[in-house]
Amino acid sequence: MMERKLAAIVAADVVGFAGLVSKDEDGTLSALDQLINQIVRVQVEAHRGRIFKSLGDGILAEFTSTVEAVNCAIGIQKSLAMDALGAGSKEHLRLRIGVSVGDVVIQGTDLLGDGVNAAARLQAMADAGGIAVSSEVMAQTRGKVDIALEDCGHKKFKDSDEPIHVFKTGQSKDGTKGLFDFDEEALADQLIKGSCLCGSVRIEVSLPPISTGYCHCRICQKFTGSAMSTWTAFPLSGVRFTDKEPQYFASSPIAERGFCSVCGSSLTYRLVRPNPAAYLVLFTSCLDTPEKFAPRVHGGMESKMHWLDILDDFPRTTCAESRALQDAWTSVGLPEPKNWGARAKLPDVLN
Ligand SMILES: [Zn+2]
Ligand SMILES: [Zn+2]
Repeated sequence: MMERKLAAIVAADVVGFAGLVSKDEDGTLSALDQLINQIVRVQVEAHRGRIFKSLGDGILAEFTSTVEAVNCAIGIQKSLAMDALGAGSKEHLRLRIGVSVGDVVIQGTDLLGDGVNAAARLQAMADAGGIAVSSEVMAQTRGKVDIALEDCGHKKFKDSDEPIHVFKTGQSKDGTKGLFDFDEEALADQLIKGSCLCGSVRIEVSLPPISTGYCHCRICQKFTGSAMSTWTAFPLSGVRFTDKEPQYFASSPIAERGFCSVCGSSLTYRLVRPNPAAYLVLFTSCLDTPEKFAPRVHGGMESKMHWLDILDDFPRTTCAESRALQDAWTSVGLPEPKNWGARAKLPDVLN
């Protein structure tokens, strides 16, 4: 019997890859490596997805949430546009991205079936720098993602295919422009800045945030001296400290936190297990425009102060429910949430 499940699938592929390779093989391959590892992987990881196939110039990733899958696709295209403009390169790689949701067949770590095929066809129908999704994806994400999609009707990729009802991101009249291609002025506007209280540590971020939230966990409470932290996660490769570096403190066996060694401001959080995370969390209040980074989720709910009333309807999770924390603590030999914490005692074998 074949094992099946329902999954949201993201298919991404480089536009005109073969032609680019024949023009400049070394340059294209190193640009591809950077694109996959510093942009695509970071976004997939941040949206709790998994890459299950790399096909040279393309990847396939699965997500348990359709909203997360579409937000990942948006994050990738936006990061690519900002990265290309920031680097001032005319010949940067472009991606087409397709998102589907449907039945898939599990075969070891690979996934096959209609859901995967549909994502690949949608990808082929997307514009360069754009995103194409199925009507099912559209229905599940309407009003929940920050993007406008146009109804393109039923389309076939090949004559033999079943038609798919396609929705695509619109393009500017200039067909070479993707959805998130910014001009210089818009880019300068996108550069995110911040600092600690005394100004010794200055922060510049050149890539858009991955996610935002509140954390009510005990460690955030102690570290920030507040009932909860507010945080914004960025791809690590987009964050620069232009003056003094933060000082880092191992706040538990699985994470390190950065602070200003002069004024003590809480600045960063980074998971270091099972591997150093490809994203860096900045405490939102150290940004110069914190009002632009409204939190969207509540984490660490097991330690929420009982006198704090939450009036929004954002998702609320405990630390024990976080897959990233489960993986991190399991990797240091402490899979049970009751053993987690700042002063967690590691099993002897790991000490
Ligand atoms: Zn300072
Ligand atoms: Zn926390």
